[in-house]
Amino acid sequence: MDERTLRELELLAVAKLYGLAGPPAPPAEPAEPAIAAPAPEAPSRPAPPAAPAAPVRFARSPREAPVAAEGAPVEGVESMDWEALRAAVRDCRRCGLCEKRKQAVFGVGHPAGPWLFVGEGPGADEDEKGEPFVGQAGKLLDSMLAAAGLARGRDAYIANVVKCRPPGNRVPLPEEAAACAPWLDRQIELVAPRLIVALGKTAAQRLTGSEASLASLRGRLHAYRGTPVVVTYHPAYLLRNLPDKARAWEDLLFARRAFADAAASP
Ligand code: SF4
Repeated sequence: MDERTLRELELLAVAKLYGLAGPPAPPAEPAEPAIAAPAPEAPSRPAPPAAPAAPVRFARSPREAPVAAEGAPVEGVESMDWEALRAAVRDCRRCGLCEKRKQAVFGVGHPAGPWLFVGEGPGADEDEKGEPFVGQAGKLLDSMLAAAGLARGRDAYIANVVKCRPPGNRVPLPEEAAACAPWLDRQIELVAPRLIVALGKTAAQRLTGSEASLASLRGRLHAYRGTPVVVTYHPAYLLRNLPDKARAWEDLLFARRAFADAAASP
């Protein structure tokens, strides 16, 4: 058994403590196309494996055109430091989401964290407190981070595609994501992460530039302006679809391998 497998077994044990690793998920999601070019599997699975030892395909895809039209540029954003960027987001009125927000939710975590997690947008709790991922979904995200040996503030920075709460927690409109793009882009430049994890479809499509389904974007390595991107479920989705936590755990293991590869490359 090699060192990587041993490490994943250790992580799996921790994941079980957090309720992340469950029985293997069914091979394909209903109504979603299968992941492109999956590794061949045996016709029937015996007992659940202790760790997802099957090699993960790293199908590095080229940067595609963004899904949403680019919003109007922000003059000088490329030279903003954290303080200036935070102030600009706080006062931003570039899209209609400013109308009903209590406050813009900027981001949180290590400002140079090697991991960057990007979600969709603030919910009610985040709008109230001004910090991303603070409700039940935030607790689950913290559990996922801990199970992978990470902690927000120490290893990771966390941000959203849009910084203001969409009314009724609806999905942000493409034009809203586009209007907010300069802020997220600058956050990514300032953090300069080794790896980005896109949480949910909105972040996945924004960062991969693809309109493909979440299911088809999972399990492959994408790139955002040269930084590797891994796609997984949004924690809020996992709260409503507990069986998919096993798949999310597979994604985290995949992300760890991608991170190790990125760290090892010059
Ligand atoms: S969502 Fe983004 S672009 Fe829209 S008002 Fe808030 S900070 Fe500005």
